Amino acid sequence: MLTMKFGGTSVGDTPRLREVVSIISQFINERPIVVASAMGGVTNVLLETARKALERRTGEVHAAVESLSERHMAVAQEFLRDDARRAALIKEQQASFDELTQLYNGVALLRELSPRSLDAIASFGELLSCRQIAAILEESGIPSAFIDARTVIRTDAAFGEAAVDFAWSYPRIADAVTPLVAKGAVPVVTGFIASTEDGITTTVGRSGSDYTGSIVGAATGSSEVWIWTDVDGVMTADPRTVPTARVLPAVSYREAAEMSYFGAKVIHPKTMVPAIEKRIPIRIKNTFNPSHPGTLITASSQAGERAAKTVTSIDDLAVIAIEGNGMIGVPGVSGRIFSALARAQVNVMMISQASSEHNVCFLVPRKDSAAGVRVLREEFGVDIARKFIDDVTVREPVSIVAVVGEGMIGAKGIAGRTFDAVAKADVNIIAIAQGSSELNISFVVEQADARKAVRAVHDAFYAA
Ligand code: ASP
Ligand code: MG
Repeated sequence: MLTMKFGGTSVGDTPRLREVVSIISQFINERPIVVASAMGGVTNVLLETARKALERRTGEVHAAVESLSERHMAVAQEFLRDDARRAALIKEQQASFDELTQLYNGVALLRELSPRSLDAIASFGELLSCRQIAAILEESGIPSAFIDARTVIRTDAAFGEAAVDFAWSYPRIADAVTPLVAKGAVPVVTGFIASTEDGITTTVGRSGSDYTGSIVGAATGSSEVWIWTDVDGVMTADPRTVPTARVLPAVSYREAAEMSYFGAKVIHPKTMVPAIEKRIPIRIKNTFNPSHPGTLITASSQAGERAAKTVTSIDDLAVIAIEGNGMIGVPGVSGRIFSALARAQVNVMMISQASSEHNVCFLVPRKDSAAGVRVLREEFGVDIARKFIDDVTVREPVSIVAVVGEGMIGAKGIAGRTFDAVAKADVNIIAIAQGSSELNISFVVEQADARKAVRAVHDAFYAA
């Protein structure tokens, strides 16, 4: 068996859906199991419309549901020639739209929109999309069955980003999916959605269909999990920044997780978790170029001759620094800093402290910088008044540039080559961090310099 996950873009319109059918028939001998997302953009519309419902913008809510309905009904009309099949799908989709309308009405009446309601509303995207994919496959002569993941994947009640109970879910998924495959059918499982013990709808986090794909692959003992996307695989850098960027034939689970964290938006970081445990390879494949082998993600890095594999950057960040002689040798300062930031729900993306302890700096999203500075000035108000701490300063916009690769572990000179290249490009480095995993080196530059730095470092490792 082979689990294939198709994202929102791949299932977002009629021509792309035809591609999906063609890909599935091409690999039919592999006994595919399909996991799919909502049609591109639908999840966003569902959630935005929920906010409109909360504000009782009834006309806009009505129009949004109408337009979602038209978009899905058009697919049914265009694909399904068989009258009975088309009527059956339209009836089911209509029932979903009625239910969705009721949910929006409920939100408007109660003026209440909890994470739990948002999950219930968001789930319609995957339900509508996967039901239609199953019908389209049937119409194309491929026996298929729709599977609502809420019946086979159980989570806790952390709505919006629920944690999966693997022990409960794996056997349920296998029991639902495997007999269908044995009969020669292609199961189509909804990505992203699940439910609690009490049957309340949850979601596993935005862009979580990749993760569902990996969960289904692990549960069914699939030979591989293929993540279909619109690029040939994981690239050495963003090709818009670095025209000479190339596709990596293989990366390790750890590298892929590290890369997705650092802005290479190829795969959801959680996707690696079930795959690692069951040792199932993940492959990134291009729907526009299905014969390309893509990038294989396994336990082994196959580092080859290159120590560094990707160079990526994240923009729109701020460096917050705390400086002062009063911090030297005083225990608990870092603890206070990070507790204060956690209280303000500021996400810290990188930390750097020189061993002189005179300065601690860390990176936060720019949108959080004001809140971060505010809570730190509160927390350290007394210390600032006593001149133990000079001040809390912020510098923005800045970018993190990250170099990722397992080949850096134990290799010498990688940092030297990286920073030498940055210096030659005449880019100033504001801060540096290397995790002791040695899997990545990250440094901070002015946002205006980020692309130049990425190109320079990429050239240093990849120039022929
Ligand atoms: N439809 C969901 C989202 O937009 C899940 C996914 O696309 O992976 O976040
Ligand atoms: Mg996606």
